[in-house]
Amino acid sequence: MVESTRTLCPYCGVGCGLEVLPPAQPGKAIKRDAAGNPLWQVRGDRGHSSSQGQVCVKGATVAESLDRNRLKYPLMRDRLDQPLQPVTWDQALDRIVEKIQTAQVQRGSDSICLYGSGQFQTEDYYVAQKLMKGCLGTNNFDANSRLCMSSAVAGYIQSFGSDGPPCCYDDLELTDCAFIVGANAAECHPIAFNRLHKHHKRNRQVKMVVVDPRRTKTAEAADLHLAIQPGTDVTLFNGIAHLLLRWGEIASLFMDECTTGFGDYTDVISHYPPERVAQECGIPMTDLEQAARYWANADNVLSLWSMGVNQSVQGTAKVCSIINVHLISGQVGRPGAGPFSLTGQPNAMGGREAGGLCHLLPGYRSIQNPEHRATLEQAWGLPPGRIAPEPGRDTWAMITGLETGEVQVLWIAATNPAVSMPDLKRTQAALRQSPFTIYQDAYYPTETTAYAHVVLPAAQWGEKTGVMTNSERMVTLCTAFRPVLGEAKADWEIFAMVGRRLGFGDQFQFQTAAEVYGEFAALTRDRLCDVTGLSHDRLQAGPVQWPCPDSEPVGEPGDRPAQRLYTTLQFPTPDGRARFRPFHGQGLGEPVDQDYPFILTVGRLYGHWHTQTRTGHIAKIQKLHPRPLLEIHPKDAKALGIDNDTWVVVKSRRGVTRFQALVTKAISPGVVFIPMHWGALWADDAEANVLTHSMACPLSLEPELKACAVHLQPLANP
Ligand code: SF4
Repeated sequence: MVESTRTLCPYCGVGCGLEVLPPAQPGKAIKRDAAGNPLWQVRGDRGHSSSQGQVCVKGATVAESLDRNRLKYPLMRDRLDQPLQPVTWDQALDRIVEKIQTAQVQRGSDSICLYGSGQFQTEDYYVAQKLMKGCLGTNNFDANSRLCMSSAVAGYIQSFGSDGPPCCYDDLELTDCAFIVGANAAECHPIAFNRLHKHHKRNRQVKMVVVDPRRTKTAEAADLHLAIQPGTDVTLFNGIAHLLLRWGEIASLFMDECTTGFGDYTDVISHYPPERVAQECGIPMTDLEQAARYWANADNVLSLWSMGVNQSVQGTAKVCSIINVHLISGQVGRPGAGPFSLTGQPNAMGGREAGGLCHLLPGYRSIQNPEHRATLEQAWGLPPGRIAPEPGRDTWAMITGLETGEVQVLWIAATNPAVSMPDLKRTQAALRQSPFTIYQDAYYPTETTAYAHVVLPAAQWGEKTGVMTNSERMVTLCTAFRPVLGEAKADWEIFAMVGRRLGFGDQFQFQTAAEVYGEFAALTRDRLCDVTGLSHDRLQAGPVQWPCPDSEPVGEPGDRPAQRLYTTLQFPTPDGRARFRPFHGQGLGEPVDQDYPFILTVGRLYGHWHTQTRTGHIAKIQKLHPRPLLEIHPKDAKALGIDNDTWVVVKSRRGVTRFQALVTKAISPGVVFIPMHWGALWADDAEANVLTHSMACPLSLEPELKACAVHLQPLANP
């Protein structure tokens, strides 16, 4: 019998359990990848309650990325116009420490930044933020979750007093009505969507409403598709609340006992009669009323959202507007009901728990809370006042800090900002100006290595053991099943090595990831995300959902019922009540005008993952999505003389790209769509983010990657 290793899919926030089997199995020929490397076999883990044995094409083919495009040794150069040369770890670390110490002396610790990733395991996050916030005394540690989930974080904190999605995946099968907002879950969170879709198909009374300017596969499965104009989500949810109030379909007792702010909220939603809302959202009034009826008639309403909500200048307002409708109707804290953000990256949730953004500290603590800082300083044995009281540089502020010269050292790990950041030409120019950039990744080359002075080889999924938390707060141990390639090291080990060389040896005595997790878990005691009952040893038996304090027996896997937050209707606010946070709809950061008359929305395709560092090397996925296409409505295409495959120049105020057209009614008139996966290594002039802008939600600092104004010009002779 061949031993399998249980782990988690390293792609999206659904967090499906995987079983991995070695390439050599008795009686079977060894399968090989396209380059001839022996191929590990991957199948869904039936024992993982989140995914119940299911995987999508990304999870099923992930092993094919293990040996492709890998970085095995440190590389270094003095200037970006020189080739990167192999060096020893000692040489690379000496250079890094020298540059950090010089920057500290000359410009202070705030001239040093670390930009991490939802691909990190929780241990990586924890050690990175301890190094930056605790030891170096700068809060300049942010992660690509800033581009992904920070509006959900801010919205939960605004409305409930703390981050933390209240729901669990079982709710997908217990709801009577699911509102999916700004999320193409069928393609981007497919296994979570499968669970909802099966429930919806089995039960005719269960309703599914999809809010999205595109008629996606998710929208096709819905009872009602609201193809709203981009940027009108706040208006829509204020309008739904207006109708619920008008019809008397509100939970008065719940609101009296468990919420505050209803008066201010009613003032705001009084401005959103259905006529105005339908007109501004660009949907029929009957559809708006039907959506509100579905909500009103359901015993249990679940809302699910993702990037279409979060990546917006009103990201937090959109999240709060959705939660407000849950509060006015009492749809929270019970099976099948509640607001439920779908996470993008596999461990964006773990990052939030471990303090992986520039305004957070481990255990859902805030940088700006003096007690929280004091708790961490005491726990880490640091002098009072070591942790700076203000949030550090968020992701975009790191880029602008390079422009002004305030950032002297930029350390990038497990992410590819030379493709994924907004306003890409400006981002790339800023990266080129960086006095010293460290790039730490499993893959080489990526688009970002072109901007690095030192490149460090990181161990990848399958080569390091650590913990990840998925969208439903399920914590899974990802166990290493093969040795690291070359001299690669786990991200947390690299951060700890640098910490020790900088003179913080006492802080980084960890021998194993299990020790790191133990130190982190102890810091969550009595916090909402309490994982004091968890350890690597315990998680070897199977995944466990938090909260999981050590005061409660965890039992065997499967013993524990699904955990939901706020079932007692007590919220982690000073008065224990949830808060209505009313907002007016403000539209897009960059509305269309005569010069740029189309709204561009960018997004993801079923098979690809982000900037293709893994999926770009997998033949099956390349075959699914060989090239990026511009989706345009037939009406617009006809007016511009565009057919299928016509090359179209797409221009915004920031840059120009070229795509071939796909004429489809799946997109609303006046809106065009392009996928965001193609960087300079994969296609010429097809980087979606050359077009996007960096305006961000003022509360979450999440940029509006989802929408900008563009001009289209068909190209006669490409
Ligand atoms: Fe992996 Fe997400 Fe697919 Fe599950 S749904 S297999 S986590 S990519």
